[in-house]
Amino acid sequence: MPAVYRTRSPEETRALAQKLARDLGPGDLLLLYGDLGSGKTTFVQGLARGLGVPEEVYVVSPSFSLVNEYPGRVPLFHVDLYRLSPEEVEDLGLHEMLSRGVMVIEWSERLGPGLKARFRIYFTYLSETEREIRIEEDVRKGPLP
Ligand code: ADP
Ligand code: MG
Repeated sequence: MPAVYRTRSPEETRALAQKLARDLGPGDLLLLYGDLGSGKTTFVQGLARGLGVPEEVYVVSPSFSLVNEYPGRVPLFHVDLYRLSPEEVEDLGLHEMLSRGVMVIEWSERLGPGLKARFRIYFTYLSETEREIRIEEDVRKGPLP
């Protein structure tokens, strides 16, 4: 069952992500979908806070560095595939990183098969200060019967 939220400020978006982060651990992959400016990176700032990344560590889009690693209670890997080809994505070694920490990917449309997402999160711009954030959890990853 997807959960749909409406946030009314960047701070509310960060607070939502911070809550979600409490439950995350190594191997958890989150895929973010939404237009430029819809709040994806703002959400990642909240994840970082929730994972205990120190306040002074600045969380920005990794468009240039491709992958940013932030030190938290578990490492947070922040990936942006915007400029990459599928071959280049292969070479990033995401699988190995994911086994060590939580991974969040912007522009995951470029991601090939092979990595299993726990959450898919869809961002929609509603107004200058409002966003709709829909969180879908892949329940198949839950505990086996
Ligand atoms: P993306 O990574 O999707 O391109 P960003 O998070 O970088 O988006 O940018 C979102 C912009 O929208 C920021 O400038 C942020 O301050 C602003 N904003 C306004 N309202 C909200 C909100 N409710 N949630 C998230 N961001 C918001
Ligand atoms: Mg971004």
